[in-house]
Amino acid sequence: MTAHRAGVRFVIIGAGMAGVLAALKLREAGFADVMVYEKADRLGGTWRENTYPGIACDVPAHLYTYSFAPNPEWSHAFAPGPEILAYFDNVARRYGVDELIRYGREVRRLEHDGSRWRIELSTGDCDDADVVIAATGVLHHPRYPDINGLNEFAGSMFHSARWDHSVPLEGARVGVIGTGSSAVQITGAITDVVRELHLFQRTPQWILPVDNPPVDEADRARYRSDPAVLTQLRAQLNRDFIQSFANAVVDADSQALQMLQKVAHANLEDSVADPALREKLRPDYRAGCKRLIISGNIYQAIQRPNAHLVTAGIDRVEADGIRTVDGRLHRLDMLVLATGFRVDRFLRPMEVVGRGGVRLDEVWGRRPFAYLSVSVPDFPNLFMLNGPNGPVGNFSLIDVAEAQTAYLLQLFELLADGRCRQISARREATARFEADRIEAAKKTVWVTGCRSWYLDDRGVPVAWPWTFTRFREVMKRPALDDYELR
Ligand code: NAP
Repeated sequence: MTAHRAGVRFVIIGAGMAGVLAALKLREAGFADVMVYEKADRLGGTWRENTYPGIACDVPAHLYTYSFAPNPEWSHAFAPGPEILAYFDNVARRYGVDELIRYGREVRRLEHDGSRWRIELSTGDCDDADVVIAATGVLHHPRYPDINGLNEFAGSMFHSARWDHSVPLEGARVGVIGTGSSAVQITGAITDVVRELHLFQRTPQWILPVDNPPVDEADRARYRSDPAVLTQLRAQLNRDFIQSFANAVVDADSQALQMLQKVAHANLEDSVADPALREKLRPDYRAGCKRLIISGNIYQAIQRPNAHLVTAGIDRVEADGIRTVDGRLHRLDMLVLATGFRVDRFLRPMEVVGRGGVRLDEVWGRRPFAYLSVSVPDFPNLFMLNGPNGPVGNFSLIDVAEAQTAYLLQLFELLADGRCRQISARREATARFEADRIEAAKKTVWVTGCRSWYLDDRGVPVAWPWTFTRFREVMKRPALDDYELR
């Protein structure tokens, strides 16, 4: 271990999938001084926060795993949330990452003093670091809808990512606002338990059907005895996902997208018997424009006698329920706001002050951006995993974080070798990347006429607009000319 390597101190913010990964990889690379600050009392990020009934990952379990830690024990093709949380716990323990995590410490402020980062915590303590890695997630800050009277509701009301398990579902009249992946999983899971389910749909969704069979014991035994089988399975699933989703959505004219639309269309036609209900559920935009929903039970659930699809707009929330613009009051005991997340937050509400007093909040005033989604000019040695405008979509964010981590480790080698002490993206390189990405986004399916969290408030896609294959290529090796090394 070089003296420099030992002397570089890393602070990672967030102990979710990406934070655990970064800590583990830094230690593996021989960086000994690594600390992870986690605001909650346990790790797991999105899988800790989202505990709603029906939560599962719609990326196949054998793909939604770290490449270096295959899991032969997945119970189903698509794993339920608690199992995924246990997997991250297990990996963190196995690789000694849990010892590096300081829980109950929220990073409130970061300030660069010209040579290092000063870190202020919610506990009143301070720390410092040469390098800060923000692994703070994308779908993290709940978005509460701006609906009149929301606080007048007399029953139980919570966001899908803040599920209140103390409220009994049996016998309840439940309203769910939203038709995104969260609302669909919730509706599929609770409709046969509750007295009435009212799904408030502002926009219908394209739904891809999926089976979720249990992984039988014989297969698990095979995976246990020969991990190479799992590695091959992961690689195969990855190829399939990249071809069918990731590379398709960035080319609005692609055949793969047309195929997805056909499958989703056939699913609607074949699964929904009542023509009037079918029309209410039929989207008028292209499949893939919003994130595709993957569900094997939503159409079944919404056709149950106790389920009501409400398509009239919401006028206001009242003490007894939701009043729609047609004057009807939908009486409810419980209201679930499955209304998504504020995807433009990233490190915020943390206050981040870079070189020369530059404030991240101001730099990101128009929209969050980062060179290749990892670095912002004037914020030396501050790097992001799953930061702004990275690849998002119906595939594994673990693969994104792994590629980014491997890329960053190459930059960290420059610090370890003593070649420089501070690294940040150059302004010109960042401006060029921003302009190129906004131009490329014009060809994606996300701009073909729908509202979604893939678009910012000016209608510009917030995601990597090129193929996933290109992302991997770019992440192989940093172009050092695009960085300012001091
Ligand atoms: P979302 O996709 O952003 O959906 C939010 C829903 O709330 C939309 O249907 C939206 O309607 C509706 N909505 C928002 N404000 C409203 C208002 N004022 N009145 C009526 N309806 C309103 O959020 P999400 O379902 O939580 O999913 C977010 C993302 O999390 C997903 O796209 C996915 O990336 C991830 N996720 C993944 C999984 C998984 O299995 N991997 C599961 C859950 C979530 P409009 O469509 O009309 O805007």
